[in-house]
Amino acid sequence: MRQSSDIPDSPAKPGLRAIPPGLHFVSTPIGAARDITLRALDVLAGADVLVAEDTRTLRHLMEIHGVPLAGRQVIAYHDHSGEGQLQRLLGLIAEGKSLAYASEAGTPLISDPGFELARAVAAAGLPMSAAPGPCAAICALTLSGLPSDRFLFAGFPPAAQGARRDFLAEFAAVQATLIFYESPKRLAALLAEMARTLGGGRQAVICRELTKRFEEVSRGTLEALAADFAAREVKGEIVVLVDRAPPEVASEASIEAALDTALATMSVKDAATFVSQTLKVSRKLVYKIALDRSQR
Ligand code: SAM
Repeated sequence: MRQSSDIPDSPAKPGLRAIPPGLHFVSTPIGAARDITLRALDVLAGADVLVAEDTRTLRHLMEIHGVPLAGRQVIAYHDHSGEGQLQRLLGLIAEGKSLAYASEAGTPLISDPGFELARAVAAAGLPMSAAPGPCAAICALTLSGLPSDRFLFAGFPPAAQGARRDFLAEFAAVQATLIFYESPKRLAALLAEMARTLGGGRQAVICRELTKRFEEVSRGTLEALAADFAAREVKGEIVVLVDRAPPEVASEASIEAALDTALATMSVKDAATFVSQTLKVSRKLVYKIALDRSQR
């Protein structure tokens, strides 16, 4: 099977080399047209068949970058295109054709079509590669100033109020920076619900129109941002990021309960070490409580 490393690294101009057979996902700009990578242009220039979520957007992008269509077909495909269209694409790959797939903007599969295609290609054992590039979630995380060691991309929250509340509640205790996509029309309602469900004091960041002329990054607590955005008419594309939940402080009752369980099988010393590490509280304090309880 050919690997993605078979794709040439750095031809100065796109379109000079053949692209190996298989499916090639291509990330495209999320605003600034020049954010396309050289390798993405190579794949678009050299693939036998072009496949796109939106054929007009892909044609326009290729035109901007001077990549000729050269008589190639541009096939429309998204995750609901149906089994027939999926089998058609798999058939082309099995015949040895190279297919470039681009979604409307950014990275395919990230709140965009491509997953069904990737799953089918993987299941069929056919070759697949990705020319990575822009993604609004990653661009927003980079600019947010929030911890990037661990993050959870949650996509678009449901539009209906009840479903949205339940959806947010699932993430309330997650120890990671949370990343959401949202439409400008629903931003104020989302922030208000986040302040209620996740806690108004949590730090959050709104990234609007990334890489575009009116790019804007707003930081504050969920409560303050909810108030700000309730009073504004918002336009453009938006990513919302929320800092992780503050660590829970163990109550004295929970320390005692954990110690009682631990003391049933451990020495006072070991029980104190175990509980202080598990509940992340001072060992000195836990040891004192353990001693008291063991002497009862
Ligand atoms: N596949 C894309 C990616 O890699 O980011 C996401 C596609 S999804 C259909 C579109 C959503 O992504 C928008 O509603 C917005 O939440 C976010 N988005 C896309 N471009 C953006 C930009 N330039 N600035 C802020 N958010 C953006």
